[in-house]
Parts: sequence; C-alpha cells; structure tokens
Amino acid sequence: MLIDGKKIAAALGAELGGRVATLRDRGLVPTLAIVVATDDESTAWYVRSLTRTARELGIEAHRVDLPRDAGRAEIRAALAAESADTGVHGVICQTPLPGGLKLDDVGDAIAVAADVDGANPESLGRLASGSTSAYPPATAAAVLKILAHEGVHLAGRRVVVIGRSNVVGKPAALMLLAEHATVTVCHSRTVDLPAVAREADVLVAAVGRAGMVTADYVKPGAVVIDVGTNATPEGGLVGDVDTADVERVAAAVTPVPGGVGPVTTMLLMSQVVTAAERAAVTR
Ligand code: NAP
Repeated sequence: MLIDGKKIAAALGAELGGRVATLRDRGLVPTLAIVVATDDESTAWYVRSLTRTARELGIEAHRVDLPRDAGRAEIRAALAAESADTGVHGVICQTPLPGGLKLDDVGDAIAVAADVDGANPESLGRLASGSTSAYPPATAAAVLKILAHEGVHLAGRRVVVIGRSNVVGKPAALMLLAEHATVTVCHSRTVDLPAVAREADVLVAAVGRAGMVTADYVKPGAVVIDVGTNATPEGGLVGDVDTADVERVAAAVTPVPGGVGPVTTMLLMSQVVTAAERAAVTR
C-alpha cells in the first residue's frame, strides 16, 4: 500500500487555516523569512513552492536574497537580523550555501524561538533532552506525523533509521525514541545494512541514494518511510526506496514524490504558526 502524503498534508492544512484566522483576527500575520544565498534551481523551485503554500494558508513568506558569494559572517548577520525582527516569526536558511559552508556553520545565528526548521544545534539539543520548547526539523517531524496518521504503534517496536544527519536521521531517531520505539541508527559504516534493516518494524530511509532500499532490506509487513529526494537525469524525483520492489513485501510505503515532502512543507508552516502563537502570548 502506498501512503498518500498529499492527503495527510491537506488535512493538516485544513487544521492550520483556523489557527491562522484566529491570529489574523488579532492583527498578527504569521511570517516566515527564507534566507537564500544560492542560484540552485531545485532550491528556487522549493522556495516558490513554500511561498505558494504559505500564501494559500494566509501565512506571509518572504525571500531574503543574499549575494551568491556571501560569506559566513554575512549569512549569519542576515539570519540574526531576521530573528530579531518582531514582525518575523520563523526563519529558515536554504542550502546549498556558498563556499562549501554547511548549515551547521550558520544555524546557531537563528534564534531558537524563530528556528522553525531546527537548524540551530541548541534546538537539536533541546529535542535530545526531551524538551518541546524548540522546533524539530520539519522533515523529521513529518516522519512521525505520517506514522501517527497511519496508526502505526511505536512503543516497544523496532525502528531502523538509515542516515544520521543533523537535519533528518538524528532528529527523527530522537523523536522515535521519545515515542518509546527501540531505535537503531545506521550510516555509511554500518556492516551488513540489509540484515540490520530487516529487523525493523518501521524502516526510515534518509540517505540520498536513489533506489538503494530494495525488498531485501525489508521485513515482511514492515512500514517504510522514504525521506530521500534524488533528482533523476530526466528531471524527475525519486526516493531512496525502490518503491515497486519494496511494495511487494512492506505493509505500507511512502512514495516519492507525494509522501514525506508535502507533509514536511505543511509541518514547517505549522511551526511558523506555532511561533506566531507563542509570540502573541508574550507580546
Ligand atoms: P546527508 O547529510 O548527506 O546524510 C546522509 C546520511 O546517509 C549520512 O548519515 C550517511 O552516512 C548516510 N549514508 C550515505 N551513504 C550510505 C550508504 N551507502 N549506506 C548507509 N548509509 C549511508 O543527507 P540528509 O540531509 O540527511 O538527507 C537525506 C536525504 O533526504 C536526501 O535525499 C535529501 O535530499 C532528503 N531530504 C528530504 C527532505 C524532504 O522534505 N523530503 C528534507 C531534507 C532532506 P555517514 O553519516 O556515515 O556519512
């Protein structure tokens, strides 16, 4: 069975509409700043898609364009300035960054209160400690949201996450742990990955290698969440999971596109709205 991420996203969007309307009635427009320092075409496409979704929900989203050769200090200054703007509730920074910079080099310039995509290491630290005062990366949150929506029971179950990045694998593993799953995190040095993956009741693939996860990685009846987004030479998008092959053994699998992606976008919007709601309480 394929899990319909678009349907889950639509339900989340309907729920968000009411929250946005309540804020707007109080004269507060939830606002997201998107800092962009790249000409990358897929980033531009993603930013357009975010802006469109925001507009449909009544959320204000604006781009902050930096020069394509912006350095660490300039990017950090922009992130800090947007965080300090009381009219802005959420701040995100698009990758790839110029000059080989990583999100980890600049993420701590986003104030935790505005860090709606969990880019600041302090947000990840709070997540690790079990606090809900910061925001997780929206992609990691999407993994949990999809499992909850599908009624997948996590307490005591074996979950294997392939990938340990700060933006997906690690926060997803922490959130699954908070739901009392028994979590194994795999990576490029894991020995006999298919055998470890086959132990999983729930398998999460967040690698960035097209079609790597085949039926050989999947225990019959497992639920498989495909976070991977890999561009094909034809201009399409495929996940880390060979969906047709895995569907033969899995109970359910998320497709790419149409799985984790739309849920991620909607949860990012939801976190912007939560940040605005929190700002409304303190102002
Ligand atoms: P990343 O930073 O490159 O991390 C990839 C992880 O996969 C690393 O932990 C790496 O291990 C591991 N890995 C690489 N090759 C492997 C192999 N052969 N076997 C086992 N593990 C392997 O990537 P990311 O930012 O986490 O993103 C992962 C994927 O999710 C990408 O396709 C990305 O485009 C996608 N993504 C999707 C969304 C969405 O909204 N759907 C959002 C963000 C990212 P090491 O740590 O040992 O190097």
